[in-house]
Amino acid sequence: MVLSLVFLGPPGAGKGTIAQRVCEKKNIPQISTGDILRDAAKKDDEFGRSVKEIMEKGQYVDDETMAKIVKNRLGEPDTANGFILDGYPRTVKQAELLESILEELGKKLSAILLIQASEETVVSRLSGRRQCKNCNRIYHVKNIPPKEEGKCDECGGEVFQRDDDKPDAIKERLRIYSEKTAPLVGFYKEKGLIKEIDANGEIEENMQNVEAVLSKLEQ
Ligand code: ADP
Repeated sequence: MVLSLVFLGPPGAGKGTIAQRVCEKKNIPQISTGDILRDAAKKDDEFGRSVKEIMEKGQYVDDETMAKIVKNRLGEPDTANGFILDGYPRTVKQAELLESILEELGKKLSAILLIQASEETVVSRLSGRRQCKNCNRIYHVKNIPPKEEGKCDECGGEVFQRDDDKPDAIKERLRIYSEKTAPLVGFYKEKGLIKEIDANGEIEENMQNVEAVLSKLEQ
């Protein structure tokens, strides 16, 4: 079965962590626009520099640029059996553009997983989050620490703290989320696509909540 999912939810709710695990299990690609942009921001060219500046402030890259990136990525052959869009769409305009991209590519969304966690949980997850510079694996200093401090369990890469996971940027990201992304919940609810996931618990418990929803979709 083709499993084509969008993960929606505030920064720090656990979209990326859960998406990485589901993708490994189901053998489908995780399309994290945050990871794609972080890779672009490593390059010292005009695009890389502008993306870096936007991300450091916790703001959003413009909708047309995002649509181009996502269209290219979804056009790759590994999406034939499904995919998880993690962090995209993030505005109603992006969701509208995604509809035409999917139509052009002959694809259809199975569901939108709304990954929910309280503001308190989200802030503590973001401030303790660490990520591998090389393979993008996500860790947390307390909840999911790497076996060896500062070193990725998967690839041995350097585990670092993102600039946008520092207090000022966290505040701004949460503000922008409620202003620009929260309205997407209504957009997808109207289409009957939303499945709510309680992600306040430990990762194992959250994964069980996700599995319960996915097994129903797969029936
Ligand atoms: P989080 O979900 O924790 O906010 P991400 O890694 O998904 O983190 O995104 C990090 C940053 O990348 C965002 O704050 C934003 O600047 C940029 N970004 C990622 N996805 C999008 C998108 N769909 N539209 C615009 N900007 C994006």
